Amino acid sequence: MLGLVQDRPLLISSLIEYASLYHGDVEIVSRSVEGPIHRTNYREVNQRAKKLAQALGRLGVQPGERIGTLAWNGYRHVEIYFGVSGMGCVCHTINPRLFPEQIAYIVNHAEDSYILVDLTFVPLVEALADHLPNVKGFIVMTDEAHMPDSKLDRLICYETLIGAEDGDYAWPDFDENTASSLCYTSGTTGNPKGVLYSNRSTVLHSFCVCTNDGLGVCNQDSILPVVPMFHANAWGIPYAAAMSGAKMVMPGAAMDGQSIYELMEAEGVTLSAGVPTVWLMLLGYVKEKGLKFSTMTRTVIGGSAAPRSMIEAFVNDYGVNVVHAWGMTEMSPLGTTGNLLKKHQDLSEAEKIDIRLKQGRAVYGVDLKIVDDEGTELPRDGKAFGRLLVRGPWITSGYFKGEGGQVIDEDMWFDTGDVATLDPDGYMQITDRSKDVIKSGGEWISSIDVENEAVGCPGIVEAAVIAVPHPKWDERPLVIAVKEPGHSVTREDVIHHLEKTLAKWQLPDDVVFVDELPHTATGKLLKTKLRDEYQNYKLP
Ligand code: ADP
Repeated sequence: MLGLVQDRPLLISSLIEYASLYHGDVEIVSRSVEGPIHRTNYREVNQRAKKLAQALGRLGVQPGERIGTLAWNGYRHVEIYFGVSGMGCVCHTINPRLFPEQIAYIVNHAEDSYILVDLTFVPLVEALADHLPNVKGFIVMTDEAHMPDSKLDRLICYETLIGAEDGDYAWPDFDENTASSLCYTSGTTGNPKGVLYSNRSTVLHSFCVCTNDGLGVCNQDSILPVVPMFHANAWGIPYAAAMSGAKMVMPGAAMDGQSIYELMEAEGVTLSAGVPTVWLMLLGYVKEKGLKFSTMTRTVIGGSAAPRSMIEAFVNDYGVNVVHAWGMTEMSPLGTTGNLLKKHQDLSEAEKIDIRLKQGRAVYGVDLKIVDDEGTELPRDGKAFGRLLVRGPWITSGYFKGEGGQVIDEDMWFDTGDVATLDPDGYMQITDRSKDVIKSGGEWISSIDVENEAVGCPGIVEAAVIAVPHPKWDERPLVIAVKEPGHSVTREDVIHHLEKTLAKWQLPDDVVFVDELPHTATGKLLKTKLRDEYQNYKLP
């Protein structure tokens, strides 16, 4: 027998419609690409998203078409999120930091009919346009006054385009399983693959982001997502912010410590979210200038493991609660959050940091398990480690156009490519990505563990640990590190520091200093490049 409740579809348009009606005056503040700070609110965003839907309709765009974006975090990008998905099309956020050939591949694979472009990326599309024959137009996200002088004949001005519409538009109803947005994984191996979200998965994920043990987004918040809107939908924050009526503060192109700090202070930011690399820059700036955060109470760190020293700095030095989160593009992306439980309140500060260092517990909606190479489930004892599998209503069931073949098993489990432990309280800890783990004499060394300890060494700003081939042990760890400017930290200092926490066989065989480390388009350490560079490195 079925229940007697209304089968109303969960649609992304309902989020902005709700925000407009119940939080219409709540601001969305952006550092615009043109320069000045721009202020709008949910009512206006809803209006302008409707105008965009009308305008795209007038251009002949049909439901299901993919509309690309090459844009920073800003109010127009928010309008596009809601306008495109709201009209039944697919908002395809393109990562502008990918190699140009990868961008061309992605746009052609997705068959984007129009691409909305921030001014910053006009030169990029000019360079690529010849390789994008099916794109009917590049809509530049600015007004007439700022339109660039360009030889491209397919340029359209965003403000002029939507300015011709009246906004008298009702969001259409359609099946909640309709595709809403598309995000390609960064493709460190092979071509990037598209993860295709639905209206339903996005709305369910937003509920999760708003729960207290999710990211706890609510109308009291002023949220600054440093994580880009082209990286797993800024971890779903724009949707969750609309669902809860939280103020949003968008940093635009300026991700340096000073710009982010100034925006946080000026706009009363209470919650921020980003990858460890950006927090390194922010903490570096705040420390150098002797500043404090006057309104920020919590920050979400995810995308890569948050090092202990970073969590300690936020929590102990600045009184900012850290929510260590884990997920992936294939998971919309939220999988686990590292909140403390009630029973942890009497633990010492150091013990609490030990817990925050783990990637956290599954949020409601995400099933997790770890298995061995035969697929047998391993115990949740905090010691056994194995491949981490996930399933749930916002986790991919397969990549766009079937790339990569079958990716879930008959019970819908998806292999994350991560190796992890699960403890009896449900806290998951990533040991490593399966391809980054260092296999030394039959034992596994977690590159993440060594990295996290290495960045805690005075004088070290950032460190990557990779496996280097070894005649006796198969592989041994090598630390590649960046020093604080002017610091005289040595190889011996780093190894001595690591001896305090690591077992002898886990210690790196060598430490190399470099001026900078390579990063992926999403700000993670690019270990494939390091492995290529150092594959013939002679360990002492
Ligand atoms: P990509 O795979 O394109 O780099 P994702 O952002 O989807 O992009 O990356 C997901 C992966 O990032 C996870 O599978 C995991 O290896 C890593 N990751 C994400 N969050 C964390 C975290 N808190 N700690 C350690 N690793 C993390």
